Amino acid sequence: MRKIYFFLILLTLSAFAKINVAVSIPPQAYILEQIAPNLVNTEVIVKPGNSPHTYEPKPSQMMALSKAKIYFAIGVEFEDSWLPKFKAQNSNLLIVHTDKNITKFPITSGEEAGELDPHIWLSPKNLKVIAKNMADALIKIDANNTKEYKDNLNKFIIKLDKLDKEIKEKLSKLKNRNFLIFHPSWGYFARDYNLKQIAVEIKGKEPSARELISVIKLAKKTGVKVIFTQPEFSQKSANLIAKELGIKVIKVSPLKKDIINNISNFANVLAGE
Ligand SMILES: [Zn+2]
Repeated sequence: MRKIYFFLILLTLSAFAKINVAVSIPPQAYILEQIAPNLVNTEVIVKPGNSPHTYEPKPSQMMALSKAKIYFAIGVEFEDSWLPKFKAQNSNLLIVHTDKNITKFPITSGEEAGELDPHIWLSPKNLKVIAKNMADALIKIDANNTKEYKDNLNKFIIKLDKLDKEIKEKLSKLKNRNFLIFHPSWGYFARDYNLKQIAVEIKGKEPSARELISVIKLAKKTGVKVIFTQPEFSQKSANLIAKELGIKVIKVSPLKKDIINNISNFANVLAGE
């Protein structure tokens, strides 16, 4: 009798067990909260304050990855060298490339010229594709909950369409369509809303004195009112530029989890709200 009870408990546990998954950055964890609430345990590898371009996972994270079923990659640089290591220690790990079906463009200024821009998640349009790729993978692994994933995905897509519409309206009358930023992470946002991103960083480094002068000249010409920085990088040259131009420094992290709120706030700053 006892054995049967034990077996029943095991069965119940396995039916309600959450799927262990891992993601590269916090916005992907937010997407999972939208499309798979209560269905997954999520491990985030690169937390705000760290750079997804150069991150090295900690031993405790490697432990978590050895128990994960899915890794949701998003195409940031650290994945190039680490995905093979994740797979080597956990051959059952399904690696899902959530940047599938997203057209990438070169970064227009800063970082490696000509290299494709990896910051795809700061665009409502791209977020819809990323969320669909994630939902498709979850349905493949956990077909029993197909309806829930699909319904949640549709709800999230409606939210993103609403955000997109709001931003379009907010920025429709904006005269100055340039914005100044230290690290060029809002390129897809700029593309979606017909804006121009001017980066301070040159090929991933602080600009030299001469490069700084040319950025200041350009910024003066465009009449920008703020400079965006992010906590993941040095504030030195941004503070210098802000002082020189008498403009405000505004910190935004592209890694902030609540991506809808983050994108909406960025648009509000641009709209002067
Ligand atoms: Zn970046």
